[in-house]
Amino acid sequence: MYRSHNCGALRVQQVGESVTLSGWVQRVRNMGGMTFIDLRDRYGITQLAFNEGWDNDLLAQARKLGREYVIRIEGEVLERESKNPKMATGDIEVKVLKLEVLNAAKTPPFTIETETDGGEELRMKYRYLDLRRDPLQAHIQLRHRVAQAVRSYLNEASFLEIETPYLIKSTPEGARDFVVPSRMNQGQFYALPQSPQTFKQLLMVSGYDRYYQIVRCFRDEDLRADRQPEFTQIDCEMAFVEQEDILNQFEGLTKHLLKEVKGVEIAQVPRITYAEAMKKYGNDKPDIRFGMELCELMELCQGKGFKVFDEAELVVGISVPGAANYSRKQLDALTNWVKRPQIGMQGLIYSKFNADGTYKSSVDKFFDAETQAQWHQEAGSNAGDLLLILAGKESICRKAMSELRLHMGAELGLRNPEEFAPLWVLDFPLLEWDEDTERYQAMHHPFTSPKPEDIALLDSDPGKVRANAYDLVLNGNEIGGGSIRIHDRAIQSKMFEVLGFSKEEAQAQFGFLMDAFEYGAPPHGGIAFGFDRLVALLGGSETIRDFIAFPKNNAGRDLMINSPAAVDNLQLEELGIDLRPQQD
Ligand code: ASP
Repeated sequence: MYRSHNCGALRVQQVGESVTLSGWVQRVRNMGGMTFIDLRDRYGITQLAFNEGWDNDLLAQARKLGREYVIRIEGEVLERESKNPKMATGDIEVKVLKLEVLNAAKTPPFTIETETDGGEELRMKYRYLDLRRDPLQAHIQLRHRVAQAVRSYLNEASFLEIETPYLIKSTPEGARDFVVPSRMNQGQFYALPQSPQTFKQLLMVSGYDRYYQIVRCFRDEDLRADRQPEFTQIDCEMAFVEQEDILNQFEGLTKHLLKEVKGVEIAQVPRITYAEAMKKYGNDKPDIRFGMELCELMELCQGKGFKVFDEAELVVGISVPGAANYSRKQLDALTNWVKRPQIGMQGLIYSKFNADGTYKSSVDKFFDAETQAQWHQEAGSNAGDLLLILAGKESICRKAMSELRLHMGAELGLRNPEEFAPLWVLDFPLLEWDEDTERYQAMHHPFTSPKPEDIALLDSDPGKVRANAYDLVLNGNEIGGGSIRIHDRAIQSKMFEVLGFSKEEAQAQFGFLMDAFEYGAPPHGGIAFGFDRLVALLGGSETIRDFIAFPKNNAGRDLMINSPAAVDNLQLEELGIDLRPQQD
């Protein structure tokens, strides 16, 4: 027998019992005649004690153990003389009577402790060692708990968990596909799913009216920080539903998760339209843990001879509570912050509404106190607040202000990771204009249904068509998105036409789906949650990598198995792929 208890189990109640434990040697501490070993497994740490007076052979054996050796011991539980209230097992220790080395270990390349001395690269290379550390253990266990809570909620609501294939044909979700060459059909390729979108819709046609899957998706995107080429979604679809039904169902899931996992009760998830979100926050995934809404100041700013304002497409401000006492240095730092290339502004204008009721701004030459008072009133300031103003090209300026708002929220400590503020964003535009291809693209995906009242605009003004599409946002992160789908062949082909597909192209790529719509397709809709991001947020972090057992790095590489990698020529030959340079 390897163990009677795990390393997190023993308490004073077991004092006097004979126990068997197995685990990893976290640390050996030699103190005069005593040696202590911290024995670790995923449940916790138990202190093992060896004493000169007890068994000197054992003591000598213990002193030779290295970090991360795997050992098995038999011993007796003793009450500790000096207890450690910080450890769950801190009241006891185990007097070792028998020690067996199950496997020796090389010295690990970094310390396997809560805080480690290992850099990111090294820890990725030895991920299996990093995963032994307790923060990672907690993350992986949290992930498991969230997955189970998702399943239990959806099972309870009669959803069926159904798997869909990984070797498929392209599903357009806006990224590139990963492709897999077919040996049996040389020159032909499978694509890995960017999501199970078309399959889940086909399941609705088949009558499985509530489906879900915790499923891997693959998108070959240019890597942005904290994106993974493969990631996990909670993918869901329902038939015979309207948007309202879906919002209610998944608002329920969100509340259930927050309650089960964090013990947080949410009364109701507020809703905002896309248009409103852009106006108030400059952003379609606003963090509503704090206010500081954007305020447009064009009318109050222009025509006073200040060129920066007069030439701007947009003048927009936020009122930062209690920041009127910001120093020159702090304001300079903010100015530099907005001038960084990622933000792209030329400068920052401020106006202080001082606690004593006076005004002081960087543009006092052009704007008197009365005008500044009007700005502050428009922005909802109180005495003591600081108005920050950006002016310039609409698209850049609104986005920059949105970033500045988040920055100020963080600076003022208003973005507490243990506070959860979910939000529905509704009525997304159906299409967005793509400058590069000079075409409309589906904002969500091409299967999203236009709002019935906007269908007529598809011909006259496609950019104005709103979709029955929604996102669920949590603390400024999009954690879920979905839509009511088109279930009518004619509208689906119209949609492909608007997106610039020829009839033949649409038929070749999506004929199977449009054909299915002619065999009794029910009205349906769904949503998918980004599972990795959701778990990370519940874990109080925004780094998804730390919540995936074996993630890729920012360059899309797995440093542990060293992938992607070349394959040997024989393999390529079998696949009919010739990588050698062509000879003339
Ligand atoms: N397939 C969509 C996505 O991956 C989600 C959905 O529409 O259900 O974003």
